Amino acid sequence: MQNETGLITVLSGFSGAGKGTIMKHLLQEYPDKYHLSISATTRKPRTGEEDGREYFFKTKAEFERMIKDNEFLEYAQFNDNYYGTPKKYVEDLANSGHDVILEIEMQGALNVRKVFPEALLLFVTPPDAVSLKNRLVGRGTESPEEIGNRLAISDQESFYMEQYDYLIVNDDLETAVKSVHDIIECEHLRVSRSMGFVKKMQNDLSIYKK
Ligand code: ADP
Ligand code: 5GP
Repeated sequence: MQNETGLITVLSGFSGAGKGTIMKHLLQEYPDKYHLSISATTRKPRTGEEDGREYFFKTKAEFERMIKDNEFLEYAQFNDNYYGTPKKYVEDLANSGHDVILEIEMQGALNVRKVFPEALLLFVTPPDAVSLKNRLVGRGTESPEEIGNRLAISDQESFYMEQYDYLIVNDDLETAVKSVHDIIECEHLRVSRSMGFVKKMQNDLSIYKK
């Protein structure tokens, strides 16, 4: 059954928790099902990242011009850089009944919820704090100082976990990917997301009214 509007899912979690890895696997396993919103950022590209694939890489002036022109659904500052979700892509997909996933940090997630109260908020965490540090070190993309900054941000972010709908403990990767997929599938079955169908059934059954 076609939903009236697509589901907006927000995937947040500590830096190094495995959000990007989970998304990559989800898109590989279900290529036609999910669309990932590509954010704009003023952070420098990491080795191997491409403009328009991981992010739209912008200068501070370009990003601030986009803010002024109201091009963002939400934006936030994280570790001295801007990150933001371009509005048009997400709105066009959702309005045409497609599911879209936003991989964004917590302030942004809560702002998305203000604009779309029906958005689904998932929080990804590793099984413990030491694994988080080991994953950041193992990824090898940040300096020790940057890793320290990101862990300190995670400490602050941990107080936002309670505001999310579901917790994904990314211990075994395949289990985590399946959990995200299963939660989204279930979310589609909420009665409140199928009010068109409900109204039609009520109308069709009214011919039997006594
Ligand atoms: P994030 O996008 O949340 O910052 P990444 O997806 O870049 O995190 O993952 C951080 C590191 O942890 C990467 O090196 C990745 O390969 C590794 N990783 C991701 N998921 C797991 C897992 N379930 N078990 C072990 N390592 C993982
Ligand atoms: P990274 O530098 O590791 O790619 O991302 C840093 C943080 O910024 C992560 O928590 C990531 O989810 C978040 N992020 C990425 N894009 C956006 C965005 O468009 N908006 C917000 N609010 N956060 C974002």
